[in-house]
This record gives sequence, structure tokens and C-alpha cells, in this order.
Amino acid sequence: NVRVRFAPSPTGPLHIGGLRTALFNYLFAKKHNGTFILRIEDTDQNRYVEGAEAYIIEALNWCGIPFDEGPGKEGKFGPYRQSERKNLYKDYALQLIEKGKAYYAFDTAERLDFHRKDHEEKGKTFIYNWHNRLKLSNSLSLSTEEVKAKLEAGEDYVIRFKSPQDEELLLTDIIRGEIKIDTNILDDKVLFKSDGMPTYHLANIVDDHLMQITHVIRGEEWLPSLALHQLLYDAFEWKAPQFAHLPLIMKPVGKGKLSKRDGEKGGFPVFPLSWNQSQGYREAGFFPESVINFLALLGWNPGTEQEIFTLDELINSFSLERVNKSGARFDPEKNNWYNQQWLQRKSDADLAELFLQYLPSKNIETSKDYVTKVVSLIKERASFVSDFWELGNYFFETPTSYDEKAVKKQWKEDTPEIMNEVISILEAIDDFSSATIETTIKDWIGKKELSFGKVMPPFRLVIVGEMKGPHLFDILELIGKEESIHRIQIAIS
Ligand code: GLU
Repeated sequence: NVRVRFAPSPTGPLHIGGLRTALFNYLFAKKHNGTFILRIEDTDQNRYVEGAEAYIIEALNWCGIPFDEGPGKEGKFGPYRQSERKNLYKDYALQLIEKGKAYYAFDTAERLDFHRKDHEEKGKTFIYNWHNRLKLSNSLSLSTEEVKAKLEAGEDYVIRFKSPQDEELLLTDIIRGEIKIDTNILDDKVLFKSDGMPTYHLANIVDDHLMQITHVIRGEEWLPSLALHQLLYDAFEWKAPQFAHLPLIMKPVGKGKLSKRDGEKGGFPVFPLSWNQSQGYREAGFFPESVINFLALLGWNPGTEQEIFTLDELINSFSLERVNKSGARFDPEKNNWYNQQWLQRKSDADLAELFLQYLPSKNIETSKDYVTKVVSLIKERASFVSDFWELGNYFFETPTSYDEKAVKKQWKEDTPEIMNEVISILEAIDDFSSATIETTIKDWIGKKELSFGKVMPPFRLVIVGEMKGPHLFDILELIGKEESIHRIQIAIS
């Protein structure tokens, strides 16, 4: 029975990397009829941000990947916030001391700093492990009485993991295969602090064990912790879950990981955490389906040419074996393309509903019916609902200026005369539908032995103001007879 967890620390809004981790966990869980758990890793009170947890939950819901167990959806493995599990970690740290796998350390920050600097000056790096352990102030170098006295005197301590000397560890990652690690490069990581709080490492392992997590799927930045985690499972004599470390998401250009500072280029969050933050994917007009789709292909590949996937299709096709090892470059153009693709899949009525919310900012009052028809004509070229205005403003406003280059090219001496005739043709049409207008105009062009090039380009120019837009007769039908004639009139007057 597959159980996976997304385990964010509530330190701010959810960025695209975190969301991808959540998504891959979700897809893997659903593919195997498993359980997707949200665990809030809030043991570091200094980095806690008010509202971040609610934000994370809302973001997952917005994307359509809700969790099965987590805060507010208590299963039998709760509570799901580490701060609410605080009291259970110390016993586990003590268990490790008992087994000789961990020890008390009383070094002050100043003392550790001194050692670090001293090593640096000699061109060496200070590693707190068997190299130095006995020179430092801990229960492996002090007598039992000394340790007892320090604890009784209430001295500050930490509990450190005793990393093994001269061993070669064999780690397995589903994506990366086997990884060999020399334990001499590991340091004795702090597991527990005298303020009663576990560190990330201890809490994470204890909770993954107690919550019966079968697969740990997380970002590559946690790969360096894998050795310690494996050693902790071994020390507790627990069966470790399987691990999969996802490749980093790289900046669109240049080196390095995509970061918050890449803002507009995709580094922005799902949506802002508070009013004073910049926009997010939601505000920029991305559809959740599109965000999910492009994120899934950031680091995973289906092994086919298929690019557009619904969530259900993703669930069906997903496998950790097809996650790439190397970093996935974030491509903002491709993201926009995905949104364009998803926009085409929305109904005209739904898109009209969204566009209608935008129109008052342009002082446009109109009906949903009209907007729906406009949308059906222009959506093909749009990536975002906000593109609709640029693509179709002339459906709502009479052009007040004309594209200069086009005027130079299309507007001939006899154009006003021809346009004047077009007015009479239009006036005589009773059924002002695209098809009727088209046949009537074409018949007239034929009879008059005019060329299309003499009529159609200037005609479009006076109606649209530029040489862009869908089929001209469709535009005429929508804006109506009166407005069509009006536009020709003002252009030739
Ligand atoms: N709390 C860690 C984070 O913020 C979780 C890492 C893990 O999944 O083990 O990413």
C-alpha cells in the first residue's frame, strides 16, 4: 500500500519547485491507488510564516491535487503538524543514545566557531565526527559523571548522531540508481536540541516511519541528507522507505537553479501569499490544468511525443523510472504555449465569463452572449484571457486610428469611392449574416470586375484599424450592420 508525503516547511508561499514535488507525489500515489499525505514540517519556529500552511493547502486545491491525509483531514497517523508532535521526538533521540548511536554534546557556539576558524587557517575543513569528536565537549569525551553533572546543571546541549568511521555506504535512489558514500565525509548531525525541538533530520525520519511512508519523493537538494537518513533508519532498525530525488529546475538561461528572484520568468509563486507580494501563476492567468501539465513534463518524460496531458492521463502514464536525472530547464515560452493549448480546450462560455470580469477595466459594458461570440472568433491566437483585449478590442470599440503602414500600402486614390459603394451594398442586405454578406460582396466584386485586393484589405483596415483579425465577414456580422457602415463612413469622411 503506497503512502507518500509532501512535507513542506511553512516558510512562505509555494513556489514552482515545491509544487512539482507535491505533484509527483500526488501522481505516484494516485497511480498506485495509494495515499497522498501533507505533513507540515514546522519545527523551526524562527522561519515560521503566518498563513503559509493555509496557503499551501489552498495552492494544492487550486491545482486540483488535494491531499488525502493532513491537517484538517486527520487519518489515523495524525497529527500532521510536527509542532503538534513535538513531545514524541525526544524519546527517539534517547533511544539512539541508549543504543550507542547518538550522544550528548555541550559545545558552545563560540567553541565550535573557534574550531572552524582554526581549521580554516590551516587550510582544512572542520568536520564534527570521529576526526574531532574526542577533542570536543561531548559524552564520548567526558566521563559519565561529568555528563550527568552538566545535564543536571541545566547546561545547553544537543544530541548528535554518531556517524560511522571508515565505512562505505551503498545508497539506492529510484531515479539515480546506486550511490556510494564514504562515511568519513559525514558529520555528526544534530538530531535534538535542549529547547525540546528535534531537528529536521530526526523529525523527518521518525514521522516517515510512524506514518508508514513507503516512498520519499523530494527535491535533489535533499540528496546530501540521504546517507544520514539511511543511517538513522539502520540505527533504529527500521525498514527505510524507497527514495527518489527529483532533478532541480534550472533557470531559463544561464546556470543555476530557478529561484524566487526569477519572478516573471516563472520563479513566482502559485499565487501571492499576501496583498503586498507580486503576482503568481494564478494572477498571470495560467489555468491550473496548464500549470500541472507543464510541471509534470519538467523533469519527467512520457517516452512518447505526447505533450498535452490531463491530470488523469498523467496519473496513468506517470512513473518514477521516467524521471530524468539531469536538471530540467524552465522554459517560459513553453509554459505560455501550454496555457494557449489549455485555453483552446475551454468552452467559449467559460472563457467569456473570465473575459467579462476584465472588460469593466476598459469601460466596456456588454452581454455575455456577445462576448461568447467574440471569444469564439479570437481565442485561437490567445495564450491568456488577458490577450483577448489586444486581439479583439475592435469588437467593442470603433477604431480611432489606423495602422499607418497599412494605410500607405492599401489606401489608393479610388478607395473612398469603392468603400462608398460597399456602404450601399451593406445597406441593402436584410439578413446581415457572415455568409450572406460574403456572397453579396463577392458577387458585386465579380460583376464590377474589381479585384479582391482593391476591396478587402482597405475594408478590413476601416473595420479593424489594422490588418489583423479573423474572417472579416464574421466580424461584420458580430458588430452589426449599423456599426459596420458607421466605421466605413468615418474612415472616408
Ligand atoms: N521539510 C523539508 C522541505 O521543506 C522536507 C524534505 C523532505 O521531503 O524530506 O523540503
